[in-house]
Amino acid sequence: MNPDRYKTILDSLYDGVYMVDHNRRIVYWNRGAERLSGYKAEEIVGKNCADNFLRHVDAAGHQLCKGLCPLARTLRDGESREDTVYLHHKQGHRMPISVRIAPLHDESGEITGAVEVFTDITARENILCELNDLRHQSLRDPLTGLGNRRAAEEEFQRRSLDLQRYQIPFGFFFIDVDHFKAVNDAHGHETGDRALVMVGKTLVSALRAVDTVCRWGGEEFLAIVPRMDPATLAIVGERMRRLVQSSSLPLPTGGELVLTVSIGGVMADADDSLDSLVARADAMMYEAKRGGRNRCSLDCGETGDL
Ligand code: GH3
Ligand code: MG
Ligand code: MG
Repeated sequence: MNPDRYKTILDSLYDGVYMVDHNRRIVYWNRGAERLSGYKAEEIVGKNCADNFLRHVDAAGHQLCKGLCPLARTLRDGESREDTVYLHHKQGHRMPISVRIAPLHDESGEITGAVEVFTDITARENILCELNDLRHQSLRDPLTGLGNRRAAEEEFQRRSLDLQRYQIPFGFFFIDVDHFKAVNDAHGHETGDRALVMVGKTLVSALRAVDTVCRWGGEEFLAIVPRMDPATLAIVGERMRRLVQSSSLPLPTGGELVLTVSIGGVMADADDSLDSLVARADAMMYEAKRGGRNRCSLDCGETGDL
């Protein structure tokens, strides 16, 4: 085929394509490369790509042109390679691109240069970020910022696997705010909401970084605490109860709102599902309510006082 015909085809591609000789001197720069980089062929052809005007960096910000860039590697070892790097656009901004590099050979098999094909992946990167954000949002309770039921399910699955595979025990708490309806009735729903945020934060403060607090719904929370034994479970439940009792929400009208919680705590069994754990811990929480509220009841004993 006539070489001009190849040029027409390459110029009609959406992707950027450029070729270097064995000294990394750019011998061809297609329209796609002009469009993506902002550099015209006449500004580029004849330059050495090691001169660093494209200034590719990797995701960590390391300059690739200064060291052995993927293109130079291909010229040396004849291997094709793919990578994601950041191109320096003529107007200054960084742009994520996917690059594919292949060696060019003469008839005797000698490497005479290399071709790089690059594609703008900004859209893909944006979609990945949005997916990450969406995933994050889909696991959060919007009011308290804690994990929601789905997050609780995921955390339960992780801890349950650790229990089944490695016999790492975990404890489980069901936490219900006492007389919360009366709070809404007396102070309004907005203050009720702020009180729920306050309780959620206090529960997180009472626990370790490896523990998880989720909002189960309404004024009910769950806590999943790995590496527990029954004696420590009682201490942890009691710490949550006391910390909530000693927290207070300043009221817009002056004064402070103090809340208490009733807590049910159980050790998980290897054959528990999340539902069976919730049912057992919820039953213990009702024991605490029946016992007078502001209590922590465990299936291995009760703590707390009024
Ligand atoms: P108990 O001590 O027996 O648990 O009494 P309680 O009043 O806490 O329990 P009840 O189940 O009767 O009431 C729970 C209240 O929680 C009723 C509901 O309006 C309120 N509530 C549920 N979700 C929210 C919320 O997101 N914000 C606010 N402000 N209130 C909520
Ligand atoms: Mg409730
Ligand atoms: Mg309640």
